[in-house]
Amino acid sequence: MTPRRLVVVGASLAGLRAVTAARECGFDGRVTLVGAEEHLPYDRPPLSKEFLAAEEEPPPPTHPDAALLRDGLGVELLLGEPATALDPTARTVTVGGAEIPYDALVIATGARPRVLPAHRPPAPPLDGVHPLRTLDDARAVRRALDAGARTVVVGAGFIGSEVASEARRRGLDVTVVEALPAPMSRSLGAETGAVFADLHTTHGTELRCDTTVTGIEGHGRVERVLLSDGSAVEADLVVVGIGAAPATEWLAGSGVAVRDGVLCDPYLATGTPGVWAAGDVARRQLAGHGRTLRLEHWTNAAEQGALAARNAVGPGPAEPCTTVPYFWSQWYGHRIQFVGLPEGEQVEILGDTATPCFIALYRSGDRLAGALAVNRAGAVPGLRRLVRAGASWAQALAHAGRLATSSSTKGTK
Ligand SMILES: Cc1cc2nc3c(=O)[nH]c(=O)nc-3n(C[C@H](O)[C@H](O)[C@H](O)COP(=O)(O)OP(=O)(O)OC[C@H]3O[C@@H](n4cnc5c(N)ncnc54)[C@H](O)[C@@H]3O)c2cc1C
Repeated sequence: MTPRRLVVVGASLAGLRAVTAARECGFDGRVTLVGAEEHLPYDRPPLSKEFLAAEEEPPPPTHPDAALLRDGLGVELLLGEPATALDPTARTVTVGGAEIPYDALVIATGARPRVLPAHRPPAPPLDGVHPLRTLDDARAVRRALDAGARTVVVGAGFIGSEVASEARRRGLDVTVVEALPAPMSRSLGAETGAVFADLHTTHGTELRCDTTVTGIEGHGRVERVLLSDGSAVEADLVVVGIGAAPATEWLAGSGVAVRDGVLCDPYLATGTPGVWAAGDVARRQLAGHGRTLRLEHWTNAAEQGALAARNAVGPGPAEPCTTVPYFWSQWYGHRIQFVGLPEGEQVEILGDTATPCFIALYRSGDRLAGALAVNRAGAVPGLRRLVRAGASWAQALAHAGRLATSSSTKGTK
């Protein structure tokens, strides 16, 4: 069947790229974009970076092509209302009581922040406790920082660490509470975890590792955070950054296979005819592996959104997803980038962890699985090419050795 009606659920990065790519590949049928938020698609990475750091509250980081959706691309926008059900037999999506018919559907509903156990019902809701996922969250966090909030960040992952960094830049008291022995030590390794811990402490952030939150107290709004070591930290703002879970509850009963994400093949097709998935919500099978992978990265969402739509409605043969995972972050003025996957049995660090200015290579078998670059942005494109090419460990070490020589010769970061 030649599809004539494309419906994309989730009006953020993956959804925007899906509808844009559908038009770019010549699809002239009906395109509907359904989004639970009222906003036009906007970018999330600035929410924990530039949006918090700007002198005055900046305008929403709306994607430049979002304004073109209705008039330029002829996309029907259904914003401010979530899809609540999918009927794959009738090929309809339920939105606010209406049944929206589709021939091809792209699921791009992303992920939702995990709620701190100490803050779940029956614990009373308290003002001043926020995740940081949406524009509305970022506005609330920004207002609290503007008011000089004593800040507690729960979770020393990338987003939490970015918030801590911004709060310290403003000279505020900041405590970061982390369950692991060091930030991201489980995924990136103990040695790099120690580097990230140093970044926090040398910038005046109090880092409480091997510690969890057991309670949040206050009368209507947060006053203090109780910790597993029996201590309490006074707080006006608590930012919870303990990860996100794929937004799949609306698919319950639809028959679409879900296991920590919507399961899809390397072409991003789910096992349900006419249904594709993309972005943070998609758990795709890796071509040539028995493994599946779900990523929460900007580049992944952008590339997958476009690919899912081309495979769903484009004229050409379906193509597999070949995205090389890539992620960046920025704390205390330090640029942190990762390509590939942080897995395997060995981590080799090359460079200076004190400055810090180094790369860390992750070995899986005799292959390079991934690479971390701290203040080594110039090294990233080459490392990305190596990961994409499936470089051997020996090739990766030789490449890194050449990088180290050239950077010490040039004295560059
Ligand atoms: C604060 C922050 C900072 C980040 N920084 C970086 C970074 O520096 N580098 C990087 O690589 N990545 C970063 N990321 C991750 C990156 O932003 C995400 O990977 C990307 O936004 C995923 O896009 P997506 O479209 O798949 O999902 P999302 O952006 O999560 O969008 C999904 C959309 O679907 C909507 N939705 C959910 N359920 C429904 C429903 N039932 N019906 C209709 N709509 C629904 C949601 O409201 C949401 O608008 C950051 C994320 C955050 C939150």
